[in-house]
Amino acid sequence: MNEKVKGRIYDIQGYSVHDGPGIRTTVFLKGCPLTCLWCHSPESQRNDFELAWFAVRCVGLEKCGLCLKACPQGALSQASPEKSVLDHSLLTKISIDRSKCDNCLTCASACPSKALTSSGYDTTVEEVYRRVAKDRHYYGEDGGITISGGEPMAQFTFTYELAKRCKQDKLSVCLDTTGYAPGENYDRVLPYIDLFLFDLKHMDTKKSRKFVGAGNDLILANAKRIAENGGKLQIRIPVIPKLNASNENLIRTAQFCQELGQAVTLVQLLPYHAMGISKYVRIGRNYKLVNITPPSDEEMQKYLELIQSFGLPAQIH
Ligand code: SF4
Ligand code: SF4
Repeated sequence: MNEKVKGRIYDIQGYSVHDGPGIRTTVFLKGCPLTCLWCHSPESQRNDFELAWFAVRCVGLEKCGLCLKACPQGALSQASPEKSVLDHSLLTKISIDRSKCDNCLTCASACPSKALTSSGYDTTVEEVYRRVAKDRHYYGEDGGITISGGEPMAQFTFTYELAKRCKQDKLSVCLDTTGYAPGENYDRVLPYIDLFLFDLKHMDTKKSRKFVGAGNDLILANAKRIAENGGKLQIRIPVIPKLNASNENLIRTAQFCQELGQAVTLVQLLPYHAMGISKYVRIGRNYKLVNITPPSDEEMQKYLELIQSFGLPAQIH
């Protein structure tokens, strides 16, 4: 066991009730091989550090301005008054020219209020384990740690060692995965994972390539592989109108889940939402999925009943 193995994460959230059974602590790793159009964690997509901007934390150029002086690229300037007002503040804020910024993070080191900050940091297995173990008093029988991302399997050694460390201390471990990673790595980590939270985004491989940046062959093969090797799967289906929310896709997904048999403990339907848009603004990226409205409660209920009609345990998340 190597507790000094380093990983790059962007957040640890305690008291999470959305990332597996019970109350959990979720560790979010940076980096993902997929590029889902609806991703609501854009800061998780790249493994590199990125400059993030939290306008409300800035004390204003009148009082500070340290970042402007620090930037070696001249990428920072005074924001126009309209833009500062858009930041819901009467203070004069900064504007970032992302075409000049090389993410050196010198300004983040200079910023006393963390208005400019890095979207990730490096840590070790032991440091994360210690943080997670602090929360064990509220895990109860069902809760524990969830290793999420990004795609945690993209930092395989860190994920593997962290899962092993937590299991050594009898913590329940969930792994939230896209399924897009080498099959043999799922075999290796499986003994330390109580439940895989496994995304099934599209059953049509061409549409999968278009919407998430990769075909689904490896993903489906890994779901089968985990099931055949005795792993447990909670299948998660993001329901995105116009992209994958169709009877045809959900029927094919349900049929596939049936093939996985008893390995499937639950199928969760996750209705599309656009709450991650502000995060795109924060790191200077464009949100490509416009003109999509969340599915109505009636539509979600219809999809839920469709999945349940295949005899699968299912819920809307
Ligand atoms: S990250 Fe570096 S280049 Fe970018 S704005 Fe900050 S100091 Fe300038
Ligand atoms: S250093 Fe931070 S607080 Fe100061 S002006 Fe720049 S962003 Fe605002």
